Amino acid sequence: MYDQILYPTDGSTGSEAAAAHVAELASAFDATVHVLHVIDIRGGGLGLSGAFLEEEGQAMSGRSPDEGYIGRHEEGPDPDEIEDELTAQAEELVEASAGSLDGIDLTTAVEMGTPHSEILRYADENDIDLVVMGTHGRTGVERYLLGSVTEKVVRLADPPVVTVRVDEGE
Ligand code: ATP
Ligand code: MN
Repeated sequence: MYDQILYPTDGSTGSEAAAAHVAELASAFDATVHVLHVIDIRGGGLGLSGAFLEEEGQAMSGRSPDEGYIGRHEEGPDPDEIEDELTAQAEELVEASAGSLDGIDLTTAVEMGTPHSEILRYADENDIDLVVMGTHGRTGVERYLLGSVTEKVVRLADPPVVTVRVDEGE
């Protein structure tokens, strides 16, 4: 019944908490696990990757952030180069998340876009039977019951969604 399990990860403690459950479920159902990270480009910019851009902007243009960086100067870093670097970082992130799933049949994926939309699209396109993810992630405030990505996936996904709290996963 659960042949294809989707494990979306943002590399946070919150998503690591789900890993033990992913492994257990995948073993029990002899399933393939899809480890997916979405490079967040909400808002038309490069979203959570802003810190990286700031650093790179300084390094590449020799300016401090106060003097402005990407997008405000002609001599900013090459967007293709930024995309390559973000993709490389994202691939490292999924490999690290996959590392805790030893002995499980795995595939890894990196997408770029709005996290919940890409997670839902990936689930549709890959016949996912079950999603397992953290209740919280990298940026969330614990007083909310669910992070915003998880909330939308729970609300909109066709397959069932298992959510794991940090203290549940440990
Ligand atoms: P918020 O982002 O709403 O401020 P948060 O970061 O605590 O709060 P979410 O982003 O919803 O909460 O993260 C909850 C779970 O959603 C994570 O544990 C992870 O499983 C998944 N997730 C979040 N962001 C991504 C992403 N960019 N790519 C893949 N999975 C993600
Ligand atoms: Mn988040």
